[in-house]
Amino acid sequence: MTPEDILANIRNIPDFPKKGILFKDITTALQKPEVYNAIIENLYSLIKDLDIDYIAAIESRGFIFGAPLAYKMGVGLVIIRKPGKLPADVYHEEYSLEYGTDSLEMHKDAVKKGDNVLVIDDLLATGGTVAATCRLVKKAGANVVGTLFLIELTELSQNVKLPAPVYSLLKC
Ligand code: AMP
Repeated sequence: MTPEDILANIRNIPDFPKKGILFKDITTALQKPEVYNAIIENLYSLIKDLDIDYIAAIESRGFIFGAPLAYKMGVGLVIIRKPGKLPADVYHEEYSLEYGTDSLEMHKDAVKKGDNVLVIDDLLATGGTVAATCRLVKKAGANVVGTLFLIELTELSQNVKLPAPVYSLLKC
C-alpha cells in the first residue's frame, strides 16, 4: 500500500475542534487492519536503521503508532502524558497548540543521560507539542535523535525548528 493509499483512508473534518482547523481524523485508517498495518510498516522503514534506545510517544494518538513501533524495533516505550496522569516524579513542559495551550509530562526516570530517543506523534503542525517533548527528553539528559510523524502539515511546519531530523510519511 502506497502513502497515497494510506492518505486516502484518513478523513478530513473541517472546523474541528475549532473553526478554521481541518482535522485529520486517523480513526478511519485504524478501522482497516490492512491500512493500520501499512502505516506501521511504512513508518518502520523510515526509522529501522536509527540507533535508538527508546521511542517516546505523545498522548494520545502518538501511543497508537509508538507502541507497535517500539515492539518492532525492540526498544523501550516512553509515555509522554498530559498533566496529572503519571504517578511518579515528572518533568513538566508548557507548549502552545494550533488550537490553544497545554502541557506535557514525562517520568524523570523514564530515560537516562546519554540514551538515544526517537519522539513520535500522529501529526506535526506548528511543532509546539513535539518541541515540548524534546525539551522533556533533554531535561533528563538524553539525546533526541529524530522525530517521527504519520502526517506533516507542511504549510504549518515549514518554519519549525526542532533539535533533531523530522521523518514524516504523509506530507499534506
Ligand atoms: P502542533 O503542536 O501544532 O505541531 O500540533 C500537533 C498536535 O496537535 C498533535 O498531537 C496532533 O494530534 C494535534 N493536531 C494539530 N493539528 C491537527 C490537525 N489539523 N488534525 C489532527 N490533529 C491535529
